[in-house]
Amino acid sequence: MPNNAFERALARLDEAAKHVEIPEETFHRLHYPKAVLSVSVPVRMDDGRLRVFEGYRVQHSDLLGPGKGGLRYHPDVDLDEVKALAFWMSCKCAVMDLPYGGAKGGVAVDPKELSMLELERLSRGLIRRIADFIGPEVDIPAPDVYTNERIMGWMMDEYSEVVRKRCPDVITGKPLALGGSRGRAGATGRGGYFCLRELTCERDWKATETSVAIHGFGNAGQAIARLLHKDGFKVVAVSDSGGAILDPDGLDIPRIIEGKRSGKSVESAYCRKSVCDQDGVETLSNADLLTLDVDVLIPAALDDVITEDNAEQIQASVILELANGPTTLEADRILDRRGISVVPDILANAGGVTVSYYEWVQNRTGDYWTEEEIDQRLEQRMVSQFGKVLALASEKDLSIRQAAYCLALQRLGAAAEALGTHALFNGD
Ligand code: NAD
Repeated sequence: MPNNAFERALARLDEAAKHVEIPEETFHRLHYPKAVLSVSVPVRMDDGRLRVFEGYRVQHSDLLGPGKGGLRYHPDVDLDEVKALAFWMSCKCAVMDLPYGGAKGGVAVDPKELSMLELERLSRGLIRRIADFIGPEVDIPAPDVYTNERIMGWMMDEYSEVVRKRCPDVITGKPLALGGSRGRAGATGRGGYFCLRELTCERDWKATETSVAIHGFGNAGQAIARLLHKDGFKVVAVSDSGGAILDPDGLDIPRIIEGKRSGKSVESAYCRKSVCDQDGVETLSNADLLTLDVDVLIPAALDDVITEDNAEQIQASVILELANGPTTLEADRILDRRGISVVPDILANAGGVTVSYYEWVQNRTGDYWTEEEIDQRLEQRMVSQFGKVLALASEKDLSIRQAAYCLALQRLGAAAEALGTHALFNGD
């Protein structure tokens, strides 16, 4: 297997291409990002020193519309990872039938080390560097790991300063007060919840008898935990970067969320408290959480956490990938052989980009929708696209992941064919 994250991501495409008829040239073109921007962002720190951070923005494909994808702040960000994430966004938007291409960006930084003012300077500095590359009809960023709605608000404001006009539609995931959408904050978790609800209904699983472990308790992990807990699912374990907690009878999710939130101090944009700070709960490692004896495992933190080293030990029968790229290709083959169903990232976590699309539509029309309208639209789209993927999987005897990639490829292929392929220009 290639070491490079982008090449590993493309291996999924190569697998899917075996099951779908699209012209070779279309498939070939998806192996290359449309455009790559590499920047350095100098930031004056509070103590007067200057630090320079490296950042990237990649547009993978604009076949279906302007680029769409998050901006990540994490020490491990590098160009190959950003290219892989941009490629996944192309597939995700295609699976959800959204009028967007794929893009992604990130800065190599540990944002928890920065003060709030340093974080603002970095975020505004990044936008000044990439302002000519993005735009409401070109490439629309959004939050991702360790970026949040406040940061999106700063970025929108800075972009508007640069172009000398108010541009709420340049970025999604903004605070409500700055043109954000109702329902956006919990949309990724809610979208995943709809997928899981459909799958468990299909299998006749009762919520109260279904146990769930969630790896990662940030935006996406907390939102799905809350919905599952409300429905009666037994969320027995959750974790964050500080470790994991377990209660076989089911955790009190609202209390844990409250505990995490109380750790968000005024001088920091991030929670300083871990789920492990809860009283009276058993703690375990993140690695042990992944192999717990549960019905459903939800990776909701980082990529490459389910690998060939632990895939044989996974005991869940369903994996719902809320994180992007949590399962390596080698692990996927093991899970497939062991009959474990994986709802892939490009489908399971697509609720976020779907409501980002609704936010963009609202910003462009000036017509703002209620939370009920947003949730209804999200439910309708998730259920319908999930149904199409499951139908394709059963028709072609594919895994859910292979079927999702096939559907994405069919849609990308149709757009490429409409522009004309070799067959058209060669007169075949
Ligand atoms: P977040 O920053 O809000 O939360 C990340 C969580 O992961 C935190 O709880 C953090 O403590 C935890 N974490 C970090 N390192 C960890 C480790 N080594 N082990 C266990 N936990 C660890 O991020 P988020 O927005 O919830 O995103 C999580 C995943 O979901 C990412 O892969 C992201 O790309 C994906 N995603 C998010 C959205 C969205 O709208 N937020 C949309 C699509 C996909």
